Amino acid sequence: MSIPTQAYAAHSHTTPLVPWSFERRDVRPDDVLIDITYCGVCHSDLHTARNDWGWTTYPIVPGHEIVGRVSAVGAQVSGFKPGDLVGVGCMVDSCQHCPPCEQGLEQYCEHGHIGTYGGTDPKDGQRTQGGYSDKIVVNHQFVLRVPGNLDEKAVPPLLCAGITTWSPLRHWKVRPGSRVAVVGLGGLGHMAIKLARALGAEVTLFSRSPGKSDDAQRLGASHVVISTDRAQMKAVANRFDLIIDTVPYEHDLNPYLPTLKFDGTLVLVGLVGKLQPPVSSVPLLLGRKSVAGSAIGGIAETQEMLDFCGQHGIVSDVEMIDMQGINDAYERMLKSDVKYRFVIDMASLKSPVSP
Ligand code: NAP
Ligand code: ZN
Repeated sequence: MSIPTQAYAAHSHTTPLVPWSFERRDVRPDDVLIDITYCGVCHSDLHTARNDWGWTTYPIVPGHEIVGRVSAVGAQVSGFKPGDLVGVGCMVDSCQHCPPCEQGLEQYCEHGHIGTYGGTDPKDGQRTQGGYSDKIVVNHQFVLRVPGNLDEKAVPPLLCAGITTWSPLRHWKVRPGSRVAVVGLGGLGHMAIKLARALGAEVTLFSRSPGKSDDAQRLGASHVVISTDRAQMKAVANRFDLIIDTVPYEHDLNPYLPTLKFDGTLVLVGLVGKLQPPVSSVPLLLGRKSVAGSAIGGIAETQEMLDFCGQHGIVSDVEMIDMQGINDAYERMLKSDVKYRFVIDMASLKSPVSP
């Protein structure tokens, strides 16, 4: 451990994130050292900082939507060179030989993928720390190429919000003519709308927030359904091939299942935990419908998504913040007041604004 690193870390689930210095490992022969320019703020960062899932160890540096420039590479790395614009998402390692890893789906590694933060490096046993920091060292197999035509500061959310919605869109073969619905217009939701639309689908947003309707349409949704309005829900019965549900907390799935077509699937990407209230099996049986889950995406499909975004000029709608603004950003995220992803300008870590 010998690369001094500046960061912001949470030290307990009740205290705000504060400046913290630590050391990253030296660059190993298969590693890339990246100077982080921008890092997105995912709701998972907030869940982790506050130990919502019960598995956080402190101190923790969140951040898994990382974009930056390569500043050094190990002796065995030939695919990257200093100056390259690159990204790192939610994973920094996996076993590389189990069946999911062999299929390029490292997020489902049977030995557990190594998270960008809160994981344990298999070689040196050190805890991994994320992108709310000025630099990161990552195995080159987990480093992505960022298309040069995209606005660099709006790219970070593609590395988590983008791939987490792209992967189910591709797995359930969304194509021109598919009808896709998205539940919740936040970071994941807005990327789901953009990507589904670009794949040719007709997209509907389910939201609790009537005020987001114009934005949803600007992002590519052709319909907005207020999920608390029974008449509006009834009007879209038997309509969707795929529903991507991004809601982070417990919520009732029962009103959504009748809106799936026969053979349709509701895929959960937000909630980590129990389905409460219980889900009735009746619409599942009578329409051969499925409730499924999906986690982020593999490295190959993440690169595929970035290249697709390059070709279609797709980036995230971002609100830039300084590192010092992270605690306020979390409070706004809890109020669903994000349009539609906060991105930290990491230059602010080195030259703090005066209070
Ligand atoms: P976000 O930006 O905060 O957006 C979540 C949206 O869900 C909100 O804007 C809101 O939309 C809706 N919502 C929030 N609370 C709700 C509630 N209690 N009931 C109903 N709707 C609610 O969050 P995000 O960054 O998109 O992340 C969403 C979830 O995905 C988080 O739990 C995160 O941890 C998880 N996640 C999972 C993966 C994965 O691999 N599966 C990857 C990344 C993130 P409306 O105002 O439109 O209703
Ligand atoms: Zn995330």
